[in-house]
Amino acid sequence: MSLPNEVMIKTMRKTITGTRPVWSAHPQDPAPASRSAVPLLSLIGDTPLVDLSDFAHERGVDPEVKVHAKAEWCNPGGSVKARPALRIVEDAEKRGDLTPGKILIDSSSGNTGIAFALIGAAKGYEVHLVMPANVSEERKALVRAYGATLIETDPLEGPQGAMLAVRELVAQNPERYYYANQYDNPSNWQAHYATTGPEIWRQTGGGITHFVAALGTTGTFTGTSRFLTARNPAIERISIQPVDEFSTIEGIKYLDTAIVPEIYDPTLPDRVVRISQERARAMARELGHGAGLFVGLSAGAAVSGALEVARELETGVVVTILPDDGSKYLSLGIFD
Ligand code: PMP
Repeated sequence: MSLPNEVMIKTMRKTITGTRPVWSAHPQDPAPASRSAVPLLSLIGDTPLVDLSDFAHERGVDPEVKVHAKAEWCNPGGSVKARPALRIVEDAEKRGDLTPGKILIDSSSGNTGIAFALIGAAKGYEVHLVMPANVSEERKALVRAYGATLIETDPLEGPQGAMLAVRELVAQNPERYYYANQYDNPSNWQAHYATTGPEIWRQTGGGITHFVAALGTTGTFTGTSRFLTARNPAIERISIQPVDEFSTIEGIKYLDTAIVPEIYDPTLPDRVVRISQERARAMARELGHGAGLFVGLSAGAAVSGALEVARELETGVVVTILPDDGSKYLSLGIFD
């Protein structure tokens, strides 16, 4: 509806000249935004589900099969790990394990470290992250950007050395720290049981038939699978792992030789799909060119696995997770 200019000006004047400024909607204003200002941490979760069905159909998947993926870079901090990091912090606060003045400490050079650093900054906790000294400069810079303190360990001892160093620091001064321990902390998978699982269920209208996710700490796969199975035991759960211990895909572990996280439930995967580093990288590139999605390598692995599963189906809804975007992997040169 359009109003004559005269009426419009009167409406504006009425608003401006009142005793106190009052905002009044004009008929020509755009519809009000659905969200007013909210606390940053409330933006964690509720990520979009992206429809990758066209991309899948162009790559040999039956037109009756849908392929969808959760855009987890939409979380503050840019990854899926904001979900468990927030739950770990808030559960520890509720138990009284994390109190003002205590330092949150963990060993992570990746997305969980970034998520802890940002949540610490938002809530006012000091965060210390222990990582091997050879971690890329862009990762160190990212956690520093959120004000976290870096403690570097011997690169030759790898992530394992960083984990042992955290345990030593905490043992020497237990009152000073809250040790988040994402690998063994049930709040990790519970975050996905409470959020990722219900979101996928709702966003597919209960229609999901196959859930595909890569394994790192295993929190995403474990929590989401448990929720979806409780809703519909017929949903197939497919985990993604590298083909061997030399096939490095950032964020994913080769569980056959790694220290298995305590939260891992080996009875959950109905099937394991093995993806090589080359395949993960090629799919990350292909998603950029073919779908307009700039994603990380574990997302490349997850979509590659999801398409492998989807190609075998005549009907179904395959859902996977895109844990982060490609920005932390630019220096690897894989997008060049
Ligand atoms: N991809 C990336 C990029 C990650 O950072 C992680 C977390 N390590 C994962 C996948 C695996 O998620 P989860 O730890 O929940 O198994």
